[in-house]
Amino acid sequence: MTDDDFIDLRSDTVTRPSEAMREAAATAEVGDDVYRDDPTVNELERRAADAVGTEAALYVPSGTMANQIAVRVHTDPGQELLLDRESHLYRWELAGAATLSGVQTRLVDAGARCVPSADRVRSETVTEDLHRPGTGLLALENTHNYRGGTAVPADRIAAAAEAAHESEIPVHLDGARVFNAAVALGVDASDIVAPVDSVAFCLSKGLGAPVGSILAGEAAFIEEARRVRKLFGGGMRQAGIIAAPGLLALESVDRLADDHANAERLAAGLDAIAGVDAPEPDTNIVVDDTEALDIAAADLVAACEDAGVGCVEFDTHTTRFTTHRDVDAADIDAAVDRVAAVVGDL
Ligand SMILES: *Cc1c(COP(=O)(O)O)cnc(C)c1O
Repeated sequence: MTDDDFIDLRSDTVTRPSEAMREAAATAEVGDDVYRDDPTVNELERRAADAVGTEAALYVPSGTMANQIAVRVHTDPGQELLLDRESHLYRWELAGAATLSGVQTRLVDAGARCVPSADRVRSETVTEDLHRPGTGLLALENTHNYRGGTAVPADRIAAAAEAAHESEIPVHLDGARVFNAAVALGVDASDIVAPVDSVAFCLSKGLGAPVGSILAGEAAFIEEARRVRKLFGGGMRQAGIIAAPGLLALESVDRLADDHANAERLAAGLDAIAGVDAPEPDTNIVVDDTEALDIAAADLVAACEDAGVGCVEFDTHTTRFTTHRDVDAADIDAAVDRVAAVVGDL
């Protein structure tokens, strides 16, 4: 199998920068961003804030750092962080909230809603007293990665946020793929972000930039976030080199619809394989279930890799496939054929 022939659906982070992005990087005007002298980073932060309708934004190396900075700024050590048990912030960030911010997580099972209901937020909120730590932050996620790239409607985000705000608890949105949600729901990203106090989103996923994420919110929050970014080792110097492709990424929101169409095509193809269950996706993430065939996800992933399809294990019998700019409909059809052959052999 040549590298060229490998259809990599492990994640939308695998895209390589376009020629235009490489050109933008090569010619970017730069300065020392820790001194706030990098005009390209400054421009990216302005445009990123505009894109989600916030006062200000901060360019950071990764989505994980954006989330962890938000937790640190919004909370005090010893408080609780309330979030869905399947959220990225809880599952895949190395207990960063505990180690970097000293907060205790309180998990709710948000189920198919993906965000807890207003009543659930109220009942899980802890008021600080002599024995109880107090809730410092509610964190939500949209699209919801582990629950299958679900595009969560803005009113559901608003209801949870309003319930938290009743108790003066701030709300952070892990919107790593918030533009996928906006495109799928046919709304502006700012409509999804309006009810929350901060949002993190990735430039390096479906938007195709090689590096970087954005943390956005009110100006005072972003000032504090800038200090925490330095503390966490994320102060970068001539970062305009990597921010320049990020500016082009911000202009590629509309193309996410292609990824969604390809994901739908992929899910339909996988679901048509006897014994494989692949529900129709909201966005660019397809999750298949092979429990009926008694095929473990780990075995499927390994066999798919040998057959030239990249995917990742999600749970014992569920596997994730993610569409992105570097795959087209023909690749999707080829991937389905290869997975069908693999399933037949296992
Ligand atoms: C990818 C992702 C992140 C983290 O982004 P990195 O840039 O990989 O650190 C955070 N939250 C969600 C929902 C993600 O999908």
